[in-house]
Amino acid sequence: MNREIFLSCQFKAHRDEAELEGLIQAIRASNSLSGDSTVVAEYEARLASHFGTRHAIAVSSGTAAIHAALEACITPGNEVLVPVIAVPMTVNAVLQAGGKPVFYDRGERGFIPCLDSLERYRSDRARVVLTVSMWGYPAIDEALLEFARHHHLVIIEDTAQGLGTVNRQRFEGTIGDIGCFSTHEFKLMSTGEGGFVLTNHEEVATRIRSFSRIGFDAKRGGFGHRPGINYKLSSPQAALGLYQLANLAAKVTQRNGKMDRWRQALLAHPRVRDFFDAPDVALNGYSAVLTLVDAEPGLARRLAETLYGRGILTDIHRYKQSYMTDFPLYQPFYQQGPYTGDKRRDFPNATRFIDSAVVLPTHDSVTPEQIDRAVLIILEELDSLGG
Ligand SMILES: *Cc1c(COP(=O)(O)O)cnc(C)c1O
Repeated sequence: MNREIFLSCQFKAHRDEAELEGLIQAIRASNSLSGDSTVVAEYEARLASHFGTRHAIAVSSGTAAIHAALEACITPGNEVLVPVIAVPMTVNAVLQAGGKPVFYDRGERGFIPCLDSLERYRSDRARVVLTVSMWGYPAIDEALLEFARHHHLVIIEDTAQGLGTVNRQRFEGTIGDIGCFSTHEFKLMSTGEGGFVLTNHEEVATRIRSFSRIGFDAKRGGFGHRPGINYKLSSPQAALGLYQLANLAAKVTQRNGKMDRWRQALLAHPRVRDFFDAPDVALNGYSAVLTLVDAEPGLARRLAETLYGRGILTDIHRYKQSYMTDFPLYQPFYQQGPYTGDKRRDFPNATRFIDSAVVLPTHDSVTPEQIDRAVLIILEELDSLGG
């Protein structure tokens, strides 16, 4: 299709002059452009202080962050509980660490796991619950912490999209045991490629740092004692990260402004509801998620296709597979074990989301005019649904 896309969920992060100037200055002043640079150490110190954790480890991507975190917690063959609504990067990291992904359903609120589903699908080889704060919405709560404590499960938060979301006075990604963040171009902090890990656990931090630095172990005299690969972030990326971190709050405010514009225009329609509304959560505004009332199977996907045909590219259209179990690489993990094989029965709450979700972009390059133009089209399409 050659139609003009006037509004896309994909974008190039906006960089102002001050950021680019700062980058050049940092490169000139830096003792090294590698991951061993003092700029990287400064970036890590600022991350830890901003998010209020004891340790921050800068790495080369969000996927690397999840992989390194898992390497610190599991041995090959261990089960890792993974949400059925996630992204391939999350599941690939599990496979890379030798873990066996076990897919679970979301609960009623946001992307917080359904505890019944965790209970039903896990076995005694489960070591980790991976939570994924899709589109910036919360994926963790007190009940999950309690469940994990009770069953001796480590909670690893994939907060690639949840960076900056505040969940009951704590940053998403600092509530479980380990938080994994991405600073890829599309994320709220953008260093092009990049990521970081946050944790309060000393031993876990040491292992993640060592794994992401080719197994370097200062206590034992250097390399060759521990496993690891090179997942270091380079110093120019860290320099961008320092600037991005200082601007994170402003970015959250901007995205929330766009999110409110979408909500105010679309919630007036009788077929539209808010996906998530909780007074104790301040969303980062990664995307605006709304849901359709009385959605029959496949409705949200059909709407996303229609919108694409009218110039609006949304995440729902871009991610062809909605359930992770639909990807060929992960299918085998769904064809064995405790499942019925009917996704609608195995993951009822995820199914409700997939049938009804409308995900709208709020990033740097979305303008109010684009939102208003898209709103008219969406309202037209909603009217033609009837009901
Ligand atoms: C972007 C993303 C990742 C991976 O981050 P990269 O930096 O691209 O490797 C992982 N999980 C989620 C939910 C993401 O959105």
